[in-house]
Formats: sequence, structure tokens, C-alpha cells
Amino acid sequence: MAQNRTLVRSITIQPGTATAGEIAKGQRLRIVDIQGGQIGDFVALKHEDPAEHLDVTYTNWANLGWRWKQGATIFTSRMNRMWLIADDPTGVHFTGGGFCSNDARRLFIDPDDTTKGCRDCLQDALEERQIDKQFLHAASCFNVFMNIDYLADGSWDSKPPITRPGDYIELRAEMDMIWALSVCVIPFAINRSDPTPLRVDILQ
Ligand SMILES: [Zn+2]
Repeated sequence: MAQNRTLVRSITIQPGTATAGEIAKGQRLRIVDIQGGQIGDFVALKHEDPAEHLDVTYTNWANLGWRWKQGATIFTSRMNRMWLIADDPTGVHFTGGGFCSNDARRLFIDPDDTTKGCRDCLQDALEERQIDKQFLHAASCFNVFMNIDYLADGSWDSKPPITRPGDYIELRAEMDMIWALSVCVIPFAINRSDPTPLRVDILQ
């Protein structure tokens, strides 16, 4: 259950864009799927040293699995505690890393595609904060609400998100950070065919 906390700020992020912001240790970041069925790519960097980032690979090691549970810790590339998963009613996200990008769109969709992907939008959002694109890594991408299963034959089963309007994940910051979230417009089964906004609430 989401508890009553003071809302510090609330940012609505439109499909095909990304926003970056700051968060202090102890504050909470809630990603809300306003209309449901929408995936986003979430990254975080240590405030004092953007070379240290959220790392899905190390977090999978630390949690002994890829489906992170409520109460689990998300670690950095240096194995420091970065986020606590404080509240996660749906519990369905992808932790294999990687963003969609214009490169991927040109390979999978149309060689002449000019649409920006999540990685491109996240780079833009971080560069507005003077953070160079070299600090954005595929292993730093936590694909929130993305619903993929690992099958016994080694393949992936890509399914639509299970989120309904208002569903969310809430993370407690364990260090001061820069975060960024993109709202994905990839038109595959893993996402809505009519992408809709996500909202980030920062809570005290
Ligand atoms: Zn995407």
C-alpha cells in the first residue's frame, strides 16, 4: 500500500520523450503508469560520480534471480546499495538491460526510421544536465512494467504489460542520485500500440 507522504514534485513524461531529475537519499521515487499498459526505461547514476550507475547484472547476482521482489535492493555497478524496492504491487518488470534506440528501430522496423528510441531520449535528458552520453550503459536500464518471461527452451516470451491505470512501483533512494526515465514508443507486443504518459512522483 502506498502510504501518505509529502509529494515533493510530480513530473508527467510524454511518450517518446525522457526526463531526468535529482533525488536525495531517503526520498522515494514512484513511477506511475497513468493509463496502464505502458513500459518505461529507467536509469540512475550516483550524484557525485556518474560513472557509478544502476546495474541490472549486479542486481540480478545480488538477488539470485532476475524477477526482483518487493523489499529487494537494487545495486550499482560498484555493488553499492542504490534503491530499495519499497512498494511494487504488480512486480512485473524486465531486468535484462538494454534500451530501444534509433539504431534498433532501423534494424527491426524500417531502415529509414528517424524516430528516437529510449536510449536517444535518455541521452538528451542527461545531456541537459551536463552528463555525457558515455555514462549511459545498457546494463543500467531497468525496464519498468515490461513483461518478458524466460522460457525453458532458451527463448523469451514477450507479452504486454499487466499494469492497469494507476499502477506503480515505488523505490526508496539509498544514495543521492540523478535519475532518468523514458516513455517507450516501441510498437511491439511488449508495449502499448498507442503509447501513453508515465508520471514520476518524488516523495519525502
Ligand atoms: Zn523504448
